[in-house]
Amino acid sequence: MTPMTQLSPDRCANCQRVTVGADQQFCPACGQPTPAPRIDWPFLRQEMQQTVLQMERGLLYSLTHLMVRPGHLMRDYIEGRRASQVKPLPLLLTTAGVVVVLGTALLGGDVMGSAMPAGYDGAARVPTDGQAGAASVMTAFAAMKEWMNRHFAATTLLMLPLEAAAFRLAFWRVGDVNYPEWLVISTYLTAQTFVLWTIGMLLQTWIPQSQAWVLSLSIAYGVFSLVQYFQGYPRWKSVMRSVLGFAIFLLMNTALTFLLVPVVLLLTK
Ligand SMILES: [Zn+2]
Repeated sequence: MTPMTQLSPDRCANCQRVTVGADQQFCPACGQPTPAPRIDWPFLRQEMQQTVLQMERGLLYSLTHLMVRPGHLMRDYIEGRRASQVKPLPLLLTTAGVVVVLGTALLGGDVMGSAMPAGYDGAARVPTDGQAGAASVMTAFAAMKEWMNRHFAATTLLMLPLEAAAFRLAFWRVGDVNYPEWLVISTYLTAQTFVLWTIGMLLQTWIPQSQAWVLSLSIAYGVFSLVQYFQGYPRWKSVMRSVLGFAIFLLMNTALTFLLVPVVLLLTK
C-alpha cells in the first residue's frame, strides 16, 4: 500500500514543492491550494458553488462589457488585466453554442443560410453555361452551407485566422498589435457578432427582417469597437482602417467560397 503523500501538510500535493510555512495558502510553483483539502461533501458543494459563480460572474462581466465598452474590454485583456474576464475562446464557444441552439429551435438548423448575404444565393442563380451548370453550382453552395451548418463551431474557428490576417493588414504599423493579439481581437469581434445574431434571431419572431440587419450591424459594431480600442489614434483613420479590414475579410471569404465550390462539386459527384 502506498503512503498517503498527497495529504502531507509540508509538501504541495501536486508538484511536491516544500511549503514555506503554515500560512501558505497556494503553492508558489504550481498555484494549487496547500494543503489540498480532502474531497468530501462540503468540499464538493463549495467547489460547485465557486465554479458556477465564477463562470457566471466572468461570463456576465465579459458579455456586458463586450456590448457596452468592447474596445476597452479587448485592450484590458491584451494589456494583461484579465482576472475578471472569461477567456476569449470560451466566450466565443459559449456564444456560438447559443446561436446553434437558437438556430436549431427557431430556424430549423439553417444557421448559416439565415445570415448569408443575399449575394451568395444570388451568385448561384447567375446562369453559367446553361441550366445544368447553374444547377450544379447551386447544389455545391447548398452542400457547403449544409457542411457549415453541421460544423458551425469549426467554421467559425477556421475563419478567425483569416479575420486576424485581414485586420493585421488593415492596421499595419498601428498600435503595435501582433498577429496573435489580432487573433484575440477577432475572437472578441466574432463573439460580439454572435450576441447580435442571437438578438436578431429572437427578434425575428416579431420583426421579420431583423436577421438581414445582423451582418451590417455587426460590422458597424466592429468598427465602433476598433475605434475604441485604438483610443488616441485619429478616429477617422481608425474608421477607415476598420472598414478596410472588414472589406479584406469579406473579400477573403468570397474568394474562399468560390475556390471551394469546385472542390465541393468534385466531392459531391
Ligand atoms: Zn505545487
